[in-house]
Amino acid sequence: MRRLCVHTITTKPLSLEECLVEFPRRGISGITIWRQALEGRDLEAVARQTREAGMDVVSLCRGGFFPSASTAGRQAAIDDNLKAIEQAHAVGAPLIVLVCGAVPGQPLAESRKQITEGIAALLPAAEQAGVKLAIEPLHPMYADDRSAVNTMRQAHEICDALGSPKSIGIAVDVYHVWWDPELKAQIDHAGQTGRLHAFHICDWKTPTTDLLNDRGLMGEGCINIREISDWVDATGFTGHREVEIFSNRWWSVDQSQFLDQIAASYSQLYS
Ligand code: ZN
Repeated sequence: MRRLCVHTITTKPLSLEECLVEFPRRGISGITIWRQALEGRDLEAVARQTREAGMDVVSLCRGGFFPSASTAGRQAAIDDNLKAIEQAHAVGAPLIVLVCGAVPGQPLAESRKQITEGIAALLPAAEQAGVKLAIEPLHPMYADDRSAVNTMRQAHEICDALGSPKSIGIAVDVYHVWWDPELKAQIDHAGQTGRLHAFHICDWKTPTTDLLNDRGLMGEGCINIREISDWVDATGFTGHREVEIFSNRWWSVDQSQFLDQIAASYSQLYS
């Protein structure tokens, strides 16, 4: 199962320890760890356990949420992101995915300015820790309170404004960007600028019954996942393809069966 990674949130009912048993059993070679899966755990032990399980830690999810109406709120966000950088370093995650944040009622342009300033404040610590950061553009339906960065173009603009340091790039998640008429051109640009840091897959269901927790397994929806994936690979990207599914429906079934279906769906997609 070449290049297959699964996010711990995808199998939310499983503990991190269970993921480290169940994932490799199905040939899943990468794991992206959500910070809530680390709660109450010794981070060095987690690093050792993932190594012993033969798994690559692909990234830590997630940092971000920079905008706030108050200076104190923005500083608290920076402090939390600095903590995430320490956590990523400790568990051996080379990358942190940033869900950049937004404040309802605050102009999106102001939020993007605060996001840029927030990331700028993290860059020295990220570089020192050897941890990269990836801006994940989110679907515009989340522009009110989850992210003011909704397209690849906007993510590139922030990278440009930061002076294009190597440590900052973009996470391409098909769920968020599949509709974008500029997608192929922006993926090409990410390849050319060395910014393509991560690739997330799942599917878009019709109808979507919950704006957050009704993502589909690959093949259940209408996203041209294989085509987008081929665009990503054409840039020279050789990283993992990360299955990230928030789904009340999938979380309610037996997670062993779900993982079997993820493996089957992935095999079919990349056969
Ligand atoms: Zn994602």
